Amino acid sequence: MSATALTEPQGLFASALERLGPAAEVAGIHAETVDRMRHPILISEATIPVRMDDGSLRLFAGYRCRHDDTRGPAKGGIRFHPDTNLDEVKTLAFWMTCKCACVGIPFGGGKGGITVNPRELSLAELERLSRGWVRALGHAIGPRTDVPAPDVYTNAQVMAWMADEYAKIAGRREPGVITGKPVELGGSLGRNDATARGGVHCSRMLIEKKDWNPKDVTIGIQGFGNAGQHYATLMAELGCTLVAATDSRGGVYDPKGLDVAKLIKHKNDTGKIEGFEISSEGHTTDNDDVLTMDVTILAPAALENAITEDNAADIKARAIVELANGPVTPDADEVLKDKDCIVIPDILANAGGVTVSYFEWVQNISGDRWTLPQVHERLKGIMEDAFEACWSTRKKHGVDMRTAAYAVALKRLGEAHEAGGTADDFKS
Ligand code: NAD
Repeated sequence: MSATALTEPQGLFASALERLGPAAEVAGIHAETVDRMRHPILISEATIPVRMDDGSLRLFAGYRCRHDDTRGPAKGGIRFHPDTNLDEVKTLAFWMTCKCACVGIPFGGGKGGITVNPRELSLAELERLSRGWVRALGHAIGPRTDVPAPDVYTNAQVMAWMADEYAKIAGRREPGVITGKPVELGGSLGRNDATARGGVHCSRMLIEKKDWNPKDVTIGIQGFGNAGQHYATLMAELGCTLVAATDSRGGVYDPKGLDVAKLIKHKNDTGKIEGFEISSEGHTTDNDDVLTMDVTILAPAALENAITEDNAADIKARAIVELANGPVTPDADEVLKDKDCIVIPDILANAGGVTVSYFEWVQNISGDRWTLPQVHERLKGIMEDAFEACWSTRKKHGVDMRTAAYAVALKRLGEAHEAGGTADDFKS
């Protein structure tokens, strides 16, 4: 296959693609699939004008990337963050393709974003910006083509504004165009904690495989937002102990354990973890220190590139459950392989969110409503099957869990691509 006229992947996207080589070998797929993964099928960039409350005009950069849709409509969140850029959006879209294939749901991968610090905007400005994204990039999405959802610093409220703007443009309500909506507007029950719940299923299965006693399992979390808070709550229900948590402004460590419900209330009341009351054995901590703490499970739940070759050697956790996307760099993976630390990779560990987004989409396009127990049961089944598939691939091929997860994903993607024929078929 020739791809000479296409831009070669660079930056974070190029680094993310490094994971494909070893996994493709394990999966035994055709080289055409790997080539396709290197080039997103649609990239859209836009300038979004927003009238600010003080009367001034601000222009924001917005993005949408449809990475691959061979297995179904593209699926992936929209991120509002000051560091969001096209390279990051492409990378996140690629991870979505792999994630949906890894857990076997019939979606491809997409992602979108706006370069903005939403904390600097009033609620009315945030609404105008969210609607502006749809006016500028709505042509790139649709219930059968590419279905967005929330990501960092976007939530159900933002999805509601976006779905409403899409309805105005389309001239009809299309709830299946976006997931993560409020339940009253067609959102699914169980979406709120789905990412964390998926991570907890993986953690529970790991604890069982390793024969650990949940009572002895300590947890450290970097990024105490949606994913981090629900993960802490559900792991505490399993009997594990949260000992450290941070958000963007810092955090706390207490070897005696943190009361999860009280910590969440404190964070909601004050907007930060800082100032939470801890025992005399505890101390304050920050986003770097939390990563190298002596805990059983470390859950990075903030942003990419938290664990790099600079701090990987200092990791003391027995396991890393990647609730965030891309928190461990490929260089760091190499260091971790030599340590007694098993990494449950993002495309498996945080796939619960997209799985329940899939449930929401199915309910929207079929006009059905599922109960919370139905959602929980189906999520459990999908996560357990995916974990087992990755675990057995890891054992069979003697590879790390990340390579195994990518191999499971690539096998499904390769089979889908090959069903349409490869060069080998056409040559003969
Ligand atoms: P969120 O906005 O609710 O929370 C993010 C948290 O990270 C906040 O507490 C914030 O203070 C903290 N944070 C931001 N910058 C930080 C930094 N530099 N160091 C430490 N903490 C920092 O977002 P979320 O939805 O919980 O998403 C968190 C991660 O999980 C992201 O990587 C996202 O892509 C991934 N993820 C989320 C979902 C989902 O459904 N929410 C699904 C899959 C993956």
